[in-house]
Amino acid sequence: MILRIQEVLSKGVPTPLNTTLDVTDLMKGRRDVLEAGPLAVRLTATPEARVVRVEGEMSLDASFACSRCLEPAHEHVEFPFSERFKLATSESAVPPEEDVIVAEEDKVDLIPYLEESLLLHLPFVPLCSDTCKGLCPQCGVNRNEIACSCSNDRIDPRMAALKDLFKD
Ligand SMILES: [Zn+2]
Ligand SMILES: [Zn+2]
Repeated sequence: MILRIQEVLSKGVPTPLNTTLDVTDLMKGRRDVLEAGPLAVRLTATPEARVVRVEGEMSLDASFACSRCLEPAHEHVEFPFSERFKLATSESAVPPEEDVIVAEEDKVDLIPYLEESLLLHLPFVPLCSDTCKGLCPQCGVNRNEIACSCSNDRIDPRMAALKDLFKD
């Protein structure tokens, strides 16, 4: 997906940039992503003085390993995207403290920016359900499926040490 900065600036009107990206390769390194559908990209490139603002929404459907029980957790991930680009050669009035990506060439490949944004917006703690009981820390069964008889009382290690003191 290519943004042509000069073209958008000379047209002077917002240009839609819509595509569907296959992110299978991007997700290969992520063990928590079991399956990821294509990334739907709906952006608009808007000229603003000598800068082009690219903004819109991205979304994808994916399955993650539930962070409690490791079973697939299906999630619809949707997030906004907004970046501004300007040509390195342009004498821009943009103050240096503002966030603008400076492009060496007129043609900017947006895919790396879209991918980076996607990775930042993947769920940090995916859950198959809000009430997922997770795996038993003692016997390892999936407690959503089997009620084991392990005691799951958490003993404060300091209390355990006290118990030992008074044991005799
Ligand atoms: Zn779960
Ligand atoms: Zn158990």
